[in-house]
Formats: sequence, C-alpha cells, structure tokens
Amino acid sequence: MFNPVALESCSSYEYSTVKKSLDQAIADIDGLSFVKPGMKIAIKANLVSAMAPEKAVTTHPALLKRLCELITEKGATVIIGDSPGGLYTPSFVRNVYKSCGLLDLEKEFDKKVTLNDDYSIKNASYAGKSLKNFIYTGWLSNVDAIINFSKLKTHAMMGMSCAVKNMFGTIPGTTKPEYHMLFPNETDFANVMIDLNEFFKPDLYIVDAIDGMEGNGPTAGEKRHIGAVLASKRPYALDMVCADLIGMTIKDVPTLRVAFENGLGPESIAEVKIVGGLSPSLAKIPDFKRATIHQSITFDGDGFINHMKSAALKLAFNTKPQVKKSECIGCKKCYETCPANAITMVPYKKASKGNSPNQGATRNISIPSIDRSKCIKCFCCQEFCPKGAMKVQENIIGKVLRKIK
Ligand code: SF4
Ligand code: SF4
Repeated sequence: MFNPVALESCSSYEYSTVKKSLDQAIADIDGLSFVKPGMKIAIKANLVSAMAPEKAVTTHPALLKRLCELITEKGATVIIGDSPGGLYTPSFVRNVYKSCGLLDLEKEFDKKVTLNDDYSIKNASYAGKSLKNFIYTGWLSNVDAIINFSKLKTHAMMGMSCAVKNMFGTIPGTTKPEYHMLFPNETDFANVMIDLNEFFKPDLYIVDAIDGMEGNGPTAGEKRHIGAVLASKRPYALDMVCADLIGMTIKDVPTLRVAFENGLGPESIAEVKIVGGLSPSLAKIPDFKRATIHQSITFDGDGFINHMKSAALKLAFNTKPQVKKSECIGCKKCYETCPANAITMVPYKKASKGNSPNQGATRNISIPSIDRSKCIKCFCCQEFCPKGAMKVQENIIGKVLRKIK
C-alpha cells in the first residue's frame, strides 16, 4: 500500500485560507511529526525562474510562510532554496528570491528562516537506475531533513511537473541541461528524477495546486485555478493524485510509469488512499490544457501489432521546438541553455507592434535557428524562454489525432 495523500480545498492565497488548508493537509497525514527542536529543515521549493507569484510558476510565498510558521513553532529553523534554471550564483538566485516574493520571509522570521546562500557543489555516488556519480547543490547536505514543496504544472518533456520532478532542482543550474544530453531517452530521464527522490528522500512532500499552470508549462503556460493543497510522505502516489486532478494518467507522465515499473508507485489512482476534506471527483479539472508532448499515446499490451501501432502514433505525435518570431526578443536564453548546441542565433528584422510612434518600423535582432539534426528534444529552450516565444510544435497528423481523441 502506498502512503496516503492528503487533499484539501484551498480557494485562494489569502493568509487565513492558506493557513486552514495547509494546516489540515499536514494534520491529515501527521506530516510534521519528524520535526524536532533544534533541527534545520530545508524547504526545497520550486523557484525555477525569476517570476512573480501570481504567474503560477513558482511555489507561492503565502504557503511557504505558513509552513515556516509551523516548523519554527516546533523549535526548528528553516532554509528555503532551489537551483533555478540559469546560473547558480548569489546574484542570480537572490534575484529569483526577490521576484518570487520571498525576501520578506527572512525579515519576518528573524533568522529562524533564511533563504539559502550556500552555493557549494557536492559530489555523490549512488547506485540509481540512471544516476551513479553526480553533483548536487551542497546546501541540502547541511540540513537534518528536507521538505519538497512543488507546484502543479504541465511540462513539455515529462507531461507534468510536480513532486517528483521538483527534485531536479537539486542539480546545479547550468548543469541541468547536461543531464538531457546524458539521458535523452524519456525513461532514462524519468529515472534521473526518481533517483534524486530516492537519494535525498525528503520527509514530506507538499504541492501548491491552488493556482497551477496549464498549456505551455512549466514556465510559459497559462495560470489555471485548481483550488487544492496536497501532501504526502512519499511523492509517487501524490503525483498520481495530482495527475488525476488535471486529467492525466500513468500513460501521460513518464515519472509515474517509471516509478510503477520500479515498484515504487501505483499504477492507477484506484490504488491510492486519499484522505482529507476535498472530494477528488469535485477537484478534477478534465479540460486542463496539456503541454504538447510526444509519445503521449501508446497501445496497451506487448506484441508486434501493438508495438507498430504505438510507433506509428509516436511518429504522428512527433513534436519539436519552434520559435514564434513575433514573440521572440532575441535574449539568447535558449541558445545559452541548449545542451546539444543545436541553436544558432540568426539576424532577423522585427517589426514594432502596438501603438508606439514606431509602429511598423523594423529593428534588427537575433532569433534562434534550430539544427534539427542536433536537437534532442529536451525542450529546455521552451522551458527557459522568458517570453514563451519557444513553442512546442506538433505535426499536422498529431494535431488531427489529438482533436479526435
Ligand atoms: S533546440 Fe531546444 S529542444 Fe532541441 S536540444 Fe536544444 S534546448 Fe533541447
Ligand atoms: S526564443 Fe525565447 S529564449 Fe530564445 S531568444 Fe527568443 S525570447 Fe529569448
């Protein structure tokens, strides 16, 4: 049997609402029983990008604040951190803290809560399915316990970004894209996520699913109200419940499939014990827009026919990153992030938009051009484009089939 998953309703980020829901979700599973006086607790939040809380990209500060209160009331101290996409340096990460609305937390809790400023890198050896020797952000080795506080969003490569995927932020900033080169296969990459969860073994997982992200996630999609806070002591059943809320199953989320194959997670929502005050059927959002991903439909069972049918569908649903020129600002983030060196920046004359006096005039910028023979379809360029200009493009057969489905 898998660890129970607490599911509580939470209609907004208003303090009293958050307090009631988060306290109840944690109480449902006795989630903070491991916290003792004097302990140093790391909250591994999702701080993937320097974006304001209302963009629904990062773990909301109202939830973090209430969790800090609960932990410090028990006599422990808290360090909040993450390795965002981009540089893992004090100035870069501090700017992320600021944009994500976290700086006030330090002031409010008077040294009992700090934002991580340890940028050391540690080496690890681990007999994981994918990971053997790897480096990680050292702040996590100087704490007594870890709490993983993720955000429910779509993800172009993994279908969904939630509790399991959040541990990828333990890999230092610019090293992350290298993992896409090392593990370009979807299963191997999903195993990296599982390995990180098993290596760090957080004591508690919480999901901010009050406002999630649909569509072009995990950074450039649209905010979608879900209205829930979830918690569990393990991530796999928790992610299964989150997937179910947004209309996904094990077939849509490689980390769920791999966790099941490794004997760590459930095969379906039916195997999960859900506790708490929110009925799963009422919480579901069946029309939640997915990220456009490849390999999202397979036929059950072994055998040549099913294999060929699945292979044909994978071809039909073949996707690729494609820049929308009118939205590109030429910032080069995609070029700098691409682990396969598949992107070159090429000159482009961009027309000015809007009501400015220069409307219609053109200016010279550089936009990305992708060498398809080098592209490994990791979608890092899509994930880290600050303007959402890098889209996931599906071919025409895929579009038609998805409409029919
Ligand atoms: S072009 Fe984009 S999807 Fe392709 S390898 Fe580079 S970052 Fe990954
Ligand atoms: S596609 Fe996005 S990341 Fe790349 S240059 Fe344009 S705006 Fe920047």
